[in-house]
Amino acid sequence: MSDTTKIDYNFHTHTARCGHAYGKDSEYVEQAIAHGFSDLGFSDHAMFPFLRQPGMRGDYSEVPDYINSVRLLQEKFASKIKIFLGFETEWLDESHRSYYEEMYRMGIDYFILGHHMLFSKDKAEFFAFLPIEEAVETYAKQVVEAIESGYFLYVAHPDFYMSWHRLPFSGKMEEAARKIIAASIEHDIPLEVNMVPSRRHQYVDYGKERGFAYPCPPFWELASKMGAKCTVGVDAHMPSDLSTGSDFSYFEHFVESKGLKVVRKEELEERIAKLKKAHGSPFHTPARD
Ligand SMILES: [Zn+2]
Ligand SMILES: [Zn+2]
Repeated sequence: MSDTTKIDYNFHTHTARCGHAYGKDSEYVEQAIAHGFSDLGFSDHAMFPFLRQPGMRGDYSEVPDYINSVRLLQEKFASKIKIFLGFETEWLDESHRSYYEEMYRMGIDYFILGHHMLFSKDKAEFFAFLPIEEAVETYAKQVVEAIESGYFLYVAHPDFYMSWHRLPFSGKMEEAARKIIAASIEHDIPLEVNMVPSRRHQYVDYGKERGFAYPCPPFWELASKMGAKCTVGVDAHMPSDLSTGSDFSYFEHFVESKGLKVVRKEELEERIAKLKKAHGSPFHTPARD
């Protein structure tokens, strides 16, 4: 393992507020420090004022507690680790777009796009439960729109759709990949190599090889060939995911073997500063700086 591939940063961390993650906020920080991380970004599933989804995301009333808790940890552990405050969110339909600006004004440092479900005015449906061809096409179109919006630090698990029906990477699947990868290059938004299926052993048969649903090997071979930038996301739902629960060497090997250009912590920090400058409130003073 060379220093150039060492994963010592993670901007994809959940908290128990979402209803399917475990442990105290402080335990995520402690595990990250123990494992030698220098940067930890909390990005819990976005809490919406217009939709309650218990078990998927926290209630909107929990936003102040989330912000305060992360800012306190940021102060408390300032000498040991850099902590950031974000949300992982879907790309919302037009009637709810003001949400992103509102959250930036409330002091959120960044968003990552985790496009799990399709939003329409008063409901949200998981893409996995929709007819596959149509769902994949809509997913790709909306991920591209989100990339163009300028609200996001990066796209979490862009190849998430490979887990819905575990189909081979061809036809519509490959077409969706091309669109997402091309947009990420054009707008310089990194794509995340995600660690969840590797922890859950979710495999897909890709013909020549059996790989994880995501990171889907042929998706990332294409991304590398086209010249996209990637970053790595633990997508922690338990404190131990940041240490003994994840196979970091697999990911270090994965990005290296695919010849992927990796956006690392220093650059992610710079990108977060730019997002805050573009969208944050001039009246908001971050807890540290
Ligand atoms: Zn989750
Ligand atoms: Zn996540």
